[in-house]
Amino acid sequence: LIQLYIPLNFLGVLYREIRQSLVDIERMFGLLRTEREIQDAPDAVALPHGPVHLRFESVGFAYDPRRPVLEDVSLSIAPGQTVAVVGHSGAGKSTLSRLLFRFYDVQQGRITLNGTDLRHYTQASLRQAIGIVPQDTVLFNDSIRYNIQYGRPEASEAEVLAAARAAQLHDFIASLPDGYETRVGERGLKLSGGEKQRVAIARALLKDPAILIFDEATSALDSKTEKAIQSQLEAAAVGRTALIIAHRLSTVMNASEIIVLDGGRVIERGTHKALLEAQGNYARMWALQQQDEHGRDD
Ligand code: ATP
Repeated sequence: LIQLYIPLNFLGVLYREIRQSLVDIERMFGLLRTEREIQDAPDAVALPHGPVHLRFESVGFAYDPRRPVLEDVSLSIAPGQTVAVVGHSGAGKSTLSRLLFRFYDVQQGRITLNGTDLRHYTQASLRQAIGIVPQDTVLFNDSIRYNIQYGRPEASEAEVLAAARAAQLHDFIASLPDGYETRVGERGLKLSGGEKQRVAIARALLKDPAILIFDEATSALDSKTEKAIQSQLEAAAVGRTALIIAHRLSTVMNASEIIVLDGGRVIERGTHKALLEAQGNYARMWALQQQDEHGRDD
């Protein structure tokens, strides 16, 4: 019986490995399918390297023509600036980043990079220029090194370490018995929400993108983790064109401009200070979140 048990047990492990790999592959193809819907223009050129001034000019968009999702949205982010977009769930915030990645094309207005319509550029060069820290980071069932290096597979060891340091992840990794070889993901070490987000920041930094999108997680973090992420984000945004899609208003206090979206329209815009003084929607959202946070920390 024992002679049978070992190969059967091995087959069980193998089966689980294959099933997991299939799930990973499926996820990858899911992404590829969405990307293929939009084709490059025949005369598309590569976006030149270097700083990018990003503009949304009266952008209108709908996933379904019967239901507009964005209407007449304009914003401008110069290199070194951070613009934050806030608003209720479903207001259209993440749609802005999908349009920037060109998963979809705008139906009215245009998006420009240094004054040129983004449809003029190849999607590959566009995506090369954008680093994203997504709401929910997918970790591959592999080493933590692999998970960071995924941002730029040809990066050197020194560059991976530098990105991990900049994301304030290095000391944590160094404290693990297997260091950078520690396996993470569903079958490895489970990282906390804050740690996962730092892996995503390290990945994005390794790519050294001109444009950085930070799609903040909706889940509540304790105020210490929130402050840590806030400072990493500010460090990561230095010298880049940064767009924050925010759920927690404390993340956006220092933004060059805050845009309040409601039902796909810009209803308010300005700095944190100016918006509080205006005593409108933003000021009300701020007051509510302050109450919430104090409740949570108590
Ligand atoms: P949240 O804060 O919950 O992330 P959001 O402001 O980022 O919300 P979006 O994800 O931009 O909102 O979605 C805006 C609207 O578009 C929502 O009403 C949503 O249901 C709809 N929507 C989003 N993605 C699709 C899609 N692929 N097809 C159809 N409708 C969609």
